Amino acid sequence: MGVAMQLHFADRERIARSILVDDKPLQNGRIPANCPFHAEGTPGGAFFYDPAKDIGRCYSCGDWSDLVGIFNAVNGRACDDGDGYREFVSTYLDDSTHFQPKERKALVSTPQPTWEPKAHEMPPERWSRKAQEFVDTCVEALQRNQEQLDRLAGWGITPAVAKAAGIGWFSASDENGDVAYRTFSHWGLPLQLNANGNERCIRLPKGFVFCGYRSDGKQYRIARMHIRCENAGTDNLPRYLQVTGASSQYYIFGKYDAKIWVIVETVRDAILLWQELGHFGVSVMAIGGASNRPDDEAHKLLRNAQLIVNAMDADTAGRKNSWKFDPDAHGQFAWQVEYPHSIRWPVPLAVGKDVGDLPRSGLSVWDWFSAGLPDNVLKQVESLRNKKMREVAVAGAAAQTAGKEAA
Ligand SMILES: [Zn+2]
Repeated sequence: MGVAMQLHFADRERIARSILVDDKPLQNGRIPANCPFHAEGTPGGAFFYDPAKDIGRCYSCGDWSDLVGIFNAVNGRACDDGDGYREFVSTYLDDSTHFQPKERKALVSTPQPTWEPKAHEMPPERWSRKAQEFVDTCVEALQRNQEQLDRLAGWGITPAVAKAAGIGWFSASDENGDVAYRTFSHWGLPLQLNANGNERCIRLPKGFVFCGYRSDGKQYRIARMHIRCENAGTDNLPRYLQVTGASSQYYIFGKYDAKIWVIVETVRDAILLWQELGHFGVSVMAIGGASNRPDDEAHKLLRNAQLIVNAMDADTAGRKNSWKFDPDAHGQFAWQVEYPHSIRWPVPLAVGKDVGDLPRSGLSVWDWFSAGLPDNVLKQVESLRNKKMREVAVAGAAAQTAGKEAA
């Protein structure tokens, strides 16, 4: 169900037979062969590749993938390896310069599982107001705190972008311990009592504060908030805590009418990409958890996109949510199935797990991103980037001239 669906059926069978070991004549339209995913005690009899559906499945180890994934597995790579994807395309789809995502959908012949996005729900208005007050204080605190700005710089994010994106620093210095507690009702949530009869509280632990805005039809207000906990691991605090009462809508950074969207897991990674790619017509969504599904608004933006770059973590959860070839998994959501115009493009394993690992690696966000784009999309983005670079150069020259004249 991947990019190999652009090929003729017979080509998929020919390629599969050329890379699989000990392939047998078709059985019910499927090619039996040795499993490319695991080392079999008695090879054969468990793995079948179906060229009509572009699904290979092993009934012994339970693993499955499309022809690109099989190609990667045979070459000792992870099934969603980006370099392998490029190699597959350049080896077998020599017309890749004419990559047309829209045409690809028409080529998918098997009925797709149906999945419907849920309507997006906003938190209570009072919650958004309280969240905004909290964020405002934390944004100011961060701008005054050089130590934390330096840490942010280590993650590749500039102070100006931190301010624009509403990143804050909560020190919890006025609280008992490193966590602030605010009662549910104070933040506009329905009153709840704990086992001791006391009102339950929203926890606001020490750390970096991230927020995301959505429209309730009248105004844009904070809909989602995460705190990157300094003391993760103690008091059951996760690395990223979603603040109680927030909706689970995707974080959206950049213009809503963008034709190119990048999908990442954490809000911090999304802000880094927005900083680096936002000027070139690219917008970003952060899921906040690999299994969180798009809401109706995010779905509309993604459906209308020209290209979606799926950069979810290069780990098992990221992979399993990208591809769902299990024939029994009807009605389940998978990125590459729901959005045929998406490409899976995690950061290289040598760099790490996610986009946040790029700044330390020496590989720039642009180099990583541009290497994954189909040629026609790359041309569009590059032309916007060149235009932007010229503007910056001209502005720089003008400032220099003005400086000289003043002197
Ligand atoms: Zn297997």
